[in-house]
Amino acid sequence: MRLDQYWWFRAWAPVVVFALLSYASWSYCYELCYNEIYLNFSQKSVAVGLMCGEVVLTALLIVLWVQIVAVGPGKQPKILPFRLFPDIGPNDAEDDDNDDDEDDSNMTGKKTDIGTIQQTTIRPPTLYQCDPQGYPLWCSTCQSIKANRTHHSAALGYCIPRFDHYCFWIGTVVGRKNYRLFVQFALYFWVFCIYVIASTASYLPGIIRSRDRIPRVNPNILITMALCCMATLMVGPLSSAHIYYMTVNKTSLEVIATNRRSKAKKNWICYLNPANGLRYVFEFRALDAQDYWNKHNAFSNLKEFMGPNVYTWFLPMGTSIRKHHPHTLEYDDVLLSYKEEPSDSLLQLLQDRISNADFSLTFRAFGDKTAESVS
Ligand SMILES: [Zn+2]
Repeated sequence: MRLDQYWWFRAWAPVVVFALLSYASWSYCYELCYNEIYLNFSQKSVAVGLMCGEVVLTALLIVLWVQIVAVGPGKQPKILPFRLFPDIGPNDAEDDDNDDDEDDSNMTGKKTDIGTIQQTTIRPPTLYQCDPQGYPLWCSTCQSIKANRTHHSAALGYCIPRFDHYCFWIGTVVGRKNYRLFVQFALYFWVFCIYVIASTASYLPGIIRSRDRIPRVNPNILITMALCCMATLMVGPLSSAHIYYMTVNKTSLEVIATNRRSKAKKNWICYLNPANGLRYVFEFRALDAQDYWNKHNAFSNLKEFMGPNVYTWFLPMGTSIRKHHPHTLEYDDVLLSYKEEPSDSLLQLLQDRISNADFSLTFRAFGDKTAESVS
């Protein structure tokens, strides 16, 4: 059992961050704004203005933090196995003679006690991430197929669409649903630190000059400034990295997969060639796999992470993910806004590799055949 599977182990870092944020807020408002700017320098309106700005930023951070945890990273709805082969139900195994008389639906489901047909497999999507044999990735904990870019979170115990990373400092997973809130939190945190550092720095020489005794500056003011400098050094690069990842449509997980030991790791994609109805399995290096979803247009990529409406990008509220009410069990309808669209360049690359016979295997999926016969 890993330690990070215990809530009490995961809770200490967020508690420390919250305590430091509260301390910085008190120290800034009381020690700097009230004791120094308001009383010592008698700049009453400046002190009140700076205090209000600080309180608004702190409140914004707490509101965002609560939402990141409350909205959550999103939970991938359960996806039934793909119909790669004809299903063999208990009835089919016993009486082979009747096979021709039975209708198609029997091959895609099993009979339940009350005689209705319960669907057990679905038509495979055009493109899915798979293993070397062309089988889709399966989560044995959730008993579901893992959709493209889904990753199982051990901490939360379910599959997360577009899993980004587990944020140790805020204590939850960042995924498709709360990603925008997380980026906003990082950016506003950065603004908060710059605000505290800049305003403290501008008053610091005056405070030092105004006193003869030691200490010339209240230590809380210096500690707060040092904390904010440290936080800036952490949050600044983090925000910049996430903005860059969004513009090239990558998740932290996909980037990490190419940085560390897993550099040699392989990925596979199963793709239905619309020209001949055959499926092809392609092998990729982890580095190439980063580019599956990159639309090669920074604005389109950003919209996939931050939401379709630009004016909501800075609105510190809500999520762009619609509520899921699937009417059928089919892949697209179950996933809705969690569905990941491959880039045109990836589809072109796959077509080129088919022409060059650069694939590991090819097969015909039963689900694709039944789909053809229907249309
Ligand atoms: Zn899972």
